[in-house]
Amino acid sequence: MSTRDKKTITEFMIEEQRRFPAATGDFTALLNYVRLACKRISFIIGRGALSGAHGSAEATNVQGEAQTKLDVVANDIFLRTSEYGGHLAGMISEELETPYQIPAEYPRGRYLLSFDPLDGSSNIDVNAPVGSIFSVLRAPRGAQPPSVEDFLQPGASQLCAGYAIYGATTMLVLTVGRGVHGFTLDRGFGEFILTHPHMRIPEETSEFAINASNERFWEPPVKRYVVECLAGKGGVRGKDFNMRWIASLVAEVHRILIRGGLFMYPKDTKEPDKAGRLRLLYEANPMAMIVEQAGGSASSGRIRMLDVVPTELHQRVPVILGCKTEVERIEQYHLEHDQGLDHAYSSPLFNERSLFIQN
Ligand code: MN
Ligand code: MN
Repeated sequence: MSTRDKKTITEFMIEEQRRFPAATGDFTALLNYVRLACKRISFIIGRGALSGAHGSAEATNVQGEAQTKLDVVANDIFLRTSEYGGHLAGMISEELETPYQIPAEYPRGRYLLSFDPLDGSSNIDVNAPVGSIFSVLRAPRGAQPPSVEDFLQPGASQLCAGYAIYGATTMLVLTVGRGVHGFTLDRGFGEFILTHPHMRIPEETSEFAINASNERFWEPPVKRYVVECLAGKGGVRGKDFNMRWIASLVAEVHRILIRGGLFMYPKDTKEPDKAGRLRLLYEANPMAMIVEQAGGSASSGRIRMLDVVPTELHQRVPVILGCKTEVERIEQYHLEHDQGLDHAYSSPLFNERSLFIQN
């Protein structure tokens, strides 16, 4: 195989850029810094306990979540690597309360970057996959220090979305609005190589992912969906389903892109003041753009994810994404519930009964 057979991520981006004669190359350069941040994080994660960055940071972030040392390290890598190039007006991160302003010594650019530097960080100590998620928006007021409002754009405005998965191999998966493409890190010479062009979510699935320990807090439409899946061949779905749960959004979405399926982190009544668990701007929206670009669907259950109008930087949202027909089915169940048409599933009797223990 010649070295020209497989494109590097930089070659891929340059080819994308050549399709648009007016493009300045700024965007390609920005993605080069994001890819470098992901390589740096991949290197540290690959060293495991040898990196000295394992364990708890003995701190909590703005959202009251325990931080691991690697959450802090990965956040710092994203900021330091991306602030330098002059392409960004500012950034937001899961780990920062307010927008990050580009230091005065660097030029400011026309784009906004939102990111979750390390997704699924509780997986680190057990050597299971983790990832980084990012989203690029146009800065509405150009190269100005951005306000909170500048970031509150619906997901449909994203110019680019992607994630890196640090698993058995490191991959970068991204979309600039023309399909989804996956690049595998060649650790030998340190470059991402296009190995998965035009990723498509299979149209059929018999696999779903949900944290079943929250079952008693789910809304009736989600219970209805899961109970029907669990009924298997003898139930209304007429086939058996498998269940998966990796507890890392990146790993769940990656599995769905490769072999199909459905992922749910629905609204629940465990913490009624939270609309969901996952964050809209740097988790749900980038993943929704990727999933739609790969032929799937992403929803809150009641509205298309990319149409949700954000009101807060760290806003949470219920997430249902993956195989299009399954997402549409759950949306339908929400609709029937909201219209009072799903009597059997809304009765207190149904809600008190466990899916797993038939009583
Ligand atoms: Mn996350
Ligand atoms: Mn995180």
